[in-house]
Amino acid sequence: MNASPTVVVIPGDGIGPEVIDAALKVVRAVLGDELEIVEEQAGYSLWKKRGVTIEDETIERCREADAMLFGACTTPEDPEAKSPIVTLRKELGLYANVRPARSWPVPRPVDTEFDLVIVRENTEGLYTGCECEIHDGVTVALRKISEEGTRRVAEVACDLAEERSGRVTIVHKANVLKLTCGTFKRVAAETVERRGLEWDDEYVDAAAYKLVREPDSFDVILTSNLFGDILSDLAAGLMGSLGLAPSANLGDDAALFEPVHGSAPDIAGKGIANPVAAILSAAMMLDHLGYGEEARIIERAVEEVLREGVRTPDLGGSATTEEVAEAIAERVATG
Ligand code: ATP
Ligand code: MG
Repeated sequence: MNASPTVVVIPGDGIGPEVIDAALKVVRAVLGDELEIVEEQAGYSLWKKRGVTIEDETIERCREADAMLFGACTTPEDPEAKSPIVTLRKELGLYANVRPARSWPVPRPVDTEFDLVIVRENTEGLYTGCECEIHDGVTVALRKISEEGTRRVAEVACDLAEERSGRVTIVHKANVLKLTCGTFKRVAAETVERRGLEWDDEYVDAAAYKLVREPDSFDVILTSNLFGDILSDLAAGLMGSLGLAPSANLGDDAALFEPVHGSAPDIAGKGIANPVAAILSAAMMLDHLGYGEEARIIERAVEEVLREGVRTPDLGGSATTEEVAEAIAERVATG
């Protein structure tokens, strides 16, 4: 571990800067000024000033950093405008999207306690953007699944399953998409077996049904891009709010941490955004940087503060972003 790890922070637009402010307050409460924080601009506000959503120098700084903490960016309507997060995922080879979901002491649509993590392939599948019109009124999208792309994301799922002493559930639809999902399932299963871990598999439709009815029956879910995108929003719904869902984007030599939610323009500037997703993303980042104990302290503080009812309106509470952040930071500082 570096004596002083460098973290590039991109607050972004909308509620991004509000929740990132909150997350940094909590990080400072647990670590003081131990991290070297480099703040960079990206997104809609930068587009208005400079006509780009992210600058090359920012991408270079991200490449050199030990980790990145990202708020949320609004992508301008202009077809020329690139999404900064998609650019970073591509440029830095962030092929695994790790999205933990667990029950917190807040009102939830299903009472069952659960603790799972979705590992979503982040660079292939239906989101490669290869679409075309083959003839009038008929459009197609290409779905790419490669053996290497599947193997490397499966390794990440195995690392997590090892840490959690758990099981990997491979989610696919190989009964219909025999070639693409067939490859995903085969290579994923081979990888998990080679690592000597337990696994099972589910069709994605059945997995969605089971997630709602028995979320506690899952541990590590390994799936392709589109399925993972949909299932992780479902899992956020089970948690009670998108505002509680953190994530990591991992590559071989880069790691970016961000809340699952977007810039939420509808509530931006009102001071009511739930900062917990960003705070938990920062905790995942600390874990990644070797500060596991500090990450656990933050998670415990979040749990206590939510249990006491210090909650933003998305969770039925009346606290502001700042009040929730302050309460968690205070709890962290006192131990
Ligand atoms: P983007 O285009 O940047 O993805 P979006 O319009 O899709 O933005 P999201 O940020 O994904 O918006 O939010 C979807 C809904 O969830 C919105 O109604 C938003 O207010 C709500 N929401 C998202 N994040 C939070 C949060 N941290 N706290 C409270 N509500 C949130
Ligand atoms: Mg969105």
